[in-house]
Amino acid sequence: MSGSAFLQRTEIKVTFAINFYNTMANRPSLLPGILGMKCPNCRKGNMYINKSIFPLKEMMHMPERCPVCGQKMELEVGFYYGTGYVSYALSVGVAIFNAAWFGFFVGFSWKNNSIWWYLGITVAMLLLLQPLLMRYSRVLYLYMFVKYGSSPHRPPGQEEQTSVE
Ligand SMILES: [Zn+2]
Repeated sequence: MSGSAFLQRTEIKVTFAINFYNTMANRPSLLPGILGMKCPNCRKGNMYINKSIFPLKEMMHMPERCPVCGQKMELEVGFYYGTGYVSYALSVGVAIFNAAWFGFFVGFSWKNNSIWWYLGITVAMLLLLQPLLMRYSRVLYLYMFVKYGSSPHRPPGQEEQTSVE
């Protein structure tokens, strides 16, 4: 191999490594994206119109498209029907989490009614957390279907071409 060809190859490799590093470094992380209820495609736009869960009536209102990248929020009609399983799994997760700390700090026993305390606390927590669990189950559901950067970024307002009569 001649010297210049070797240098050229090395240059390509280095450029590739730098590009790869930049892509990874500029990518907003997955976990803050999910916790912050951000769009899975750009991890910047909000998935819900209201940041607060109040008013409760508008709690589940989502924009049709991500305000930052234009990612569709409801991939198809009835897309979110499957979220029941996700919120069920999240509820089970809360119950297990409670069992862990309750078992550690209090302990389960029929004698001092502590098992009823556990059930009472868990049911109350699940009721209180219900709005958040519902929101997060949609977030997780959309993250399962849309990977980061999977659709090209489109500035807001620039809709896909629709056929005009
Ligand atoms: Zn987006």
